Amino acid sequence: MSEGFLNRLYTCQALHYSYREKDSSTPVLNGIDFHISEGDFLCLTGPSGSGKSTLLNLLGMIEMPQEGEFIFKGRQVSELSEKQINEIRRYEIGFIFQDFQLIDVLSIEENVEYFLTRQKIASKERKERVESALLEVGMIDFRHKRPGELSGGQKQRAAIARALAKRPSVIVADEPTASLDLANGRQVMETLAKLNERHGVTVVIASHDAMVLQYAHREIKLLDGRILQEKEARHAV
Ligand code: ADP
Ligand code: MG
Repeated sequence: MSEGFLNRLYTCQALHYSYREKDSSTPVLNGIDFHISEGDFLCLTGPSGSGKSTLLNLLGMIEMPQEGEFIFKGRQVSELSEKQINEIRRYEIGFIFQDFQLIDVLSIEENVEYFLTRQKIASKERKERVESALLEVGMIDFRHKRPGELSGGQKQRAAIARALAKRPSVIVADEPTASLDLANGRQVMETLAKLNERHGVTVVIASHDAMVLQYAHREIKLLDGRILQEKEARHAV
């Protein structure tokens, strides 16, 4: 086995996915081949409707491919039980969305902690994780605020802290800067880049935004549910 293989987080081969309803089936991913190594910073690009969000949902194990080989950390996902998949989703994957998806009635600190209460983590460690995640994204001073009192960029950084508190292997982010102005978008990307560089968290982002690409190591361009192009991206300076 080559070293590259040992560092593989995901291997995807000939993945197919269709949205299925009673009497119709809409093919959306039509044979996707790629892999993601640990520590990678990958950006999925492509026009609206090309399948970026659907592919992120597969990587986040929210949906399962109907065909193809899907391997996470050396394990064939199709052979895992529902319980094992739930554990991967809960412990290994941090999701970030365009609209943040924070709970309005909870403080920022409670939002970050809420996800951990569903894991088997003792209360003392939970508090430590919440604090270090908020420190890491520069949001510790806002811990007692509610989402409604924050700017979009601050909300997104709180959402990153929520994902980070899980200590995930991978952060999967769907258009994380699309609701933000340029300055806030950059701050969010810088936060993700820091987590990637300092802590080795793998980051996979879907985005239309050219600014986002400046932070990625690698770009995969989708078109009509296929990979059109895969290339190294330039780092931000
Ligand atoms: P992107 O994120 O690149 O805009 P999506 O993955 O959201 O692309 O969508 C890809 C295709 O799948 C689109 O044609 C879209 O209409 C279709 N699609 C997305 N979600 C659903 C759904 N829940 N049911 C049926 N079709 C869907
Ligand atoms: Mg999308």
